[in-house]
Amino acid sequence: MQQAGFITIATLAITTGLWIAGRSTQILTAELWPWHGPAQITALWLLNLVALTLVAGTRARALEPLFGGLDKAIRLHRRLGGAALIVMLVHILLLVPPRIGTAVGEVYNPFHPNSPFWIDVVASWLVLPLALAIWWRKLPHQVWLWLHRTLGVLLILACAHSLTVAATVRDYEPLRFWMILLVGIGLAAIAYRLLMFRRMGPRHGYTVEAVEPRGEHVVDLQLRPRDRRMSFDPGAFVYVSVRGSAAVPDELHPFSISSSPAERDLRLSIRKVGDWTKRLPALQPGTAVDVYGPFGGFTPHAFVGQRRLVLIGAGIGITPFLSMLRFELVNNDFRRVWLYYSVRDKGDAPYDHELADLSQKADSWVDYMLWESKARGRLTAATVHEEASPFGDYAVMLCGTNAFIRDMRTQFRALGLPDSRIIAEEFQLR
Ligand SMILES: Cc1cc2nc3c(=O)[nH]c(=O)nc-3n(C[C@H](O)[C@H](O)[C@H](O)COP(=O)(O)OP(=O)(O)OC[C@H]3O[C@@H](n4cnc5c(N)ncnc54)[C@H](O)[C@@H]3O)c2cc1C
Repeated sequence: MQQAGFITIATLAITTGLWIAGRSTQILTAELWPWHGPAQITALWLLNLVALTLVAGTRARALEPLFGGLDKAIRLHRRLGGAALIVMLVHILLLVPPRIGTAVGEVYNPFHPNSPFWIDVVASWLVLPLALAIWWRKLPHQVWLWLHRTLGVLLILACAHSLTVAATVRDYEPLRFWMILLVGIGLAAIAYRLLMFRRMGPRHGYTVEAVEPRGEHVVDLQLRPRDRRMSFDPGAFVYVSVRGSAAVPDELHPFSISSSPAERDLRLSIRKVGDWTKRLPALQPGTAVDVYGPFGGFTPHAFVGQRRLVLIGAGIGITPFLSMLRFELVNNDFRRVWLYYSVRDKGDAPYDHELADLSQKADSWVDYMLWESKARGRLTAATVHEEASPFGDYAVMLCGTNAFIRDMRTQFRALGLPDSRIIAEEFQLR
């Protein structure tokens, strides 16, 4: 993520530097200040940020090391997209003052007879309500996806506007080259994501071996490789899509793997929360499933030097730790592990027996605790710290909802644990 921050700042600095170079003869004149210059530079920053947003959302495995995993890349995509929207808003506002009393309507009313860029103006008007809509988390995922893509198209239109309108871009060759390069990279990224990922992405052919209910709300999807099995680190996640099933639509959904990398079959442990996951029990053995991945940087291998690990899974957030513990059966890289499975009550803990059993058999020393919040209140970092700290420094891995992770991260930071020793997997990417 640090590299990604560096790339963002470096590209924005190059864009700004080239704009200053292109405007060197006017830079100190009143023509550019206080409105025209900032309006031009924000248009270029918008283009720059949109290109990076598209790159961060690519789902390309080759780019994972740059971002520290696909999950982090998608979170960066979200932040850069938000920043692009703010910059766009600032750009639009900067256009107002110089036109007061004369041509405000020409710029902001797409149907004004003198409006020269009406497509861009319509795009600008649509972007803001769309952005607000996708911030609303309760939207059904497919509707959200559709709105999100429309927003992307509108931002790309806004960028096309920046390229054609800003005089500096047209007239100054190095800046034009740089901007076209950024746009090209951004468009290649979106073309890969939308048109090529399904065919050229890291796809592995599996078939459904069994769909096993684990209590009322969870199912285990047991998948058998059709050809070669996928190799992955414990803690990785995949995107899956079911092909040719009348019961389950062909959509891509992310899930952490809950089986060990050493096992032949791939197991996904899935909570039935919405449209797609609630249909999974109807899947028939033998149905083809495309598995894309593995993705993510959420693995104990990220802490190779750290001998003491605290693992905390909330609810279905336990799945990557199931994979890690199953891997412990064949892994003799001894570690001291504290594993917490935080649930409301025992009825909400379908993997309790499996974890208790695995922690006994594991090669590492694993202290396993089922934490029932109904009876004991919320699990806190202070409770965990009390157990683990007498044994020296430890690193923490957290998995669950965004709110759970935010809360736990804040508590561990307050206890003095540095950020470099906390890694997390959020089950909500938006
Ligand atoms: C890295 C990662 C690992 C995950 N691992 C697991 C796991 O091991 N077990 C498990 O039960 N769940 C896991 N999830 C959550 C799982 O992806 C969603 O619960 C599932 O996609 C819901 O689909 P739905 O249509 O049934 O529900 P919906 O009601 O449509 O969606 C519920 C929520 O799930 C998210 N979601 C839905 N569809 C997608 C999608 N295609 N891509 C991204 N997010 C989506 C959205 O935030 C949405 O608000 C994981 C999510 C992520 C990001």
